Amino acid sequence: MASGTLFIVATPIGNLQDITFRAVEVLTAADAIFCEDTRVTAKLLAHLKIQKPLFAYHQHSDEKVIGQVAATLREGMRVVLVSDAGTPGINDPGGMLIARLLAVEPTLTIVPIPGPNAAITALSASGFPAGRFQYWGFIPHKKGRQTLFRELAACEDTVVFYESKHRIGKTLEQVREAFAAAETPERPLVIGRELTKQFETFYRGTVEQVLRALQEDETLGEFVVVVGPRGWH
Ligand code: SAM
Repeated sequence: MASGTLFIVATPIGNLQDITFRAVEVLTAADAIFCEDTRVTAKLLAHLKIQKPLFAYHQHSDEKVIGQVAATLREGMRVVLVSDAGTPGINDPGGMLIARLLAVEPTLTIVPIPGPNAAITALSASGFPAGRFQYWGFIPHKKGRQTLFRELAACEDTVVFYESKHRIGKTLEQVREAFAAAETPERPLVIGRELTKQFETFYRGTVEQVLRALQEDETLGEFVVVVGPRGWH
């Protein structure tokens, strides 16, 4: 049985000051830190003046990596899991690692250290009702997009999803089509771009207005899309 503890530590989504006292405490006391990209985490640790052994894990990490984490935990170590940004497990390989570890060690002690998350950050500034909302993660690149946008147009709730700079324009064009077909072209949305970073920008309005504003700016950076509930003005 594992006697160590796995800490799931949320890290900044841009601004390196966005780290909790508790996260710093846990990182400082860690015996090993597993991260997506050691270069990204090394930068954060350098900022925090913490020196620790870093080990990479990713979506395709094989059983050897899982075995390595499980063995470290079995030795009673304090193991930390971080992702490149935000809360591990929320649309990054962290969730996969936790599931695979639990399959090997069902009684594993897991302690989450809450902190930044891009979806919640955008939602908190959206002004849309958030008592009930849907989180859709990344929109699929190919299959099922049309169906998903039709579902989005029919959805009564606030919906939050992630999009990359490569597809934000195309996705918004498809959302515009779906909203037009559903006769809700005025449905409002908010896009949070480069949240917590130097060029943080919010685009607010109808999909048409937001698309135009985005086309005027360079569509660089990271994006969260928050769609207001159907019928919301
Ligand atoms: N685990 C992360 C979290 O808790 O938010 C999400 C990881 S997911 C791989 C990365 C996506 O989150 C990006 O493509 C972007 O859509 C969104 N994202 C992350 N940081 C962001 C930021 N600073 N501004 C806007 N979107 C961001």
